[in-house]
Amino acid sequence: MIPGSFAYHRPTTVKEAVGLLNSLGDDARALAGGHSLIPMMKLRLASPAHLIDLAGVADLKGIREDGRDVVIGAMTTQHDVIGSELLAKKVPILRETSVLIADPQVRYLGTIGGNVANGDPGNDMPAVMMCLNATYQVMGKSGERRIAAREFYQGAYFTALEPGEIVTAIRMPAPAAGHGYAYEKLKRKVGDYATAAAAVVLTLSGGKVATCSIGLTNVAETPLWAEEACKILTGSALDPATVKKAVAAAEAITAPASDGRGPAVYRTKMAGVMMTRALARAKTRAGG
Ligand SMILES: Cc1cc2nc3c(=O)[nH]c(=O)nc-3n(C[C@H](O)[C@H](O)[C@H](O)COP(=O)(O)OP(=O)(O)OC[C@H]3O[C@@H](n4cnc5c(N)ncnc54)[C@H](O)[C@@H]3O)c2cc1C
Repeated sequence: MIPGSFAYHRPTTVKEAVGLLNSLGDDARALAGGHSLIPMMKLRLASPAHLIDLAGVADLKGIREDGRDVVIGAMTTQHDVIGSELLAKKVPILRETSVLIADPQVRYLGTIGGNVANGDPGNDMPAVMMCLNATYQVMGKSGERRIAAREFYQGAYFTALEPGEIVTAIRMPAPAAGHGYAYEKLKRKVGDYATAAAAVVLTLSGGKVATCSIGLTNVAETPLWAEEACKILTGSALDPATVKKAVAAAEAITAPASDGRGPAVYRTKMAGVMMTRALARAKTRAGG
């Protein structure tokens, strides 16, 4: 299919981009890598009259440290995330997740900002951002505000973004040195969205879980943060009985659709399997 006609705008500053989005109103959409939006336009599921391409806004690119936080510009591509030495050292789960997204062609253009702002429950980064307790820096006509990833997702394709706002950067506290991490994703074939996936970041102290965070992908209308499961695991040695109890708590918050990736009950069980595998790998990486 061919998309409907649209006017193309290429601002060079955040102010200009936000100004265009606000003056053009509901008919305008931000364009990042285009690897979610353009397919939607080709299917005529979206028909914006104006595309505001963020590719020319230099301030939206780059990866840097800010005190104990790591800050990633919204227009940083998934390919750049994979190649970042800073991220490999400080937040390695982002590389592990990025290499499981689509294929190199998509990752060369697809951005981290587009992935988190899109609101598709199949996107991989949102659950990872919830797991990392990331915050999204957002700019709109009233200025900048920050929204916790754990409060951002309201339904499939519904987020806390107000009309005319864009995500400018993603900010996260770097997990403690020596932390364990893993992103486990079940997919039908290479390049597919998740049937179910789980992100784990944990620290151990004396062989017991000191801190633990778990995010789940594509097993509800929004990404999920499995808070109760984390509470159950904290203080444990990740023994099989406790892991089983935590998995049951995580499965209880899922509500996947039955679709081409399998019936709902299967996808819920696969979320539990992915979580169990991610916990085991994270434990090993944390020296447990
Ligand atoms: C074949 C294929 C396979 C894929 N597989 C996966 C997969 O396994 N996992 C996965 O996570 N993704 C997958 N994707 C999606 C891919 O990662 C996209 O690149 C990503 O979802 C969106 O990023 P983008 O930069 O392309 O955003 P775009 O497509 O340009 O934009 C997506 C949406 O976000 C909005 N938006 C973009 N940037 C901003 C911003 N800074 N502020 C506010 N709103 C913004 C746009 O207006 C639009 O509504 C796949 C895509 C394809 C084509």
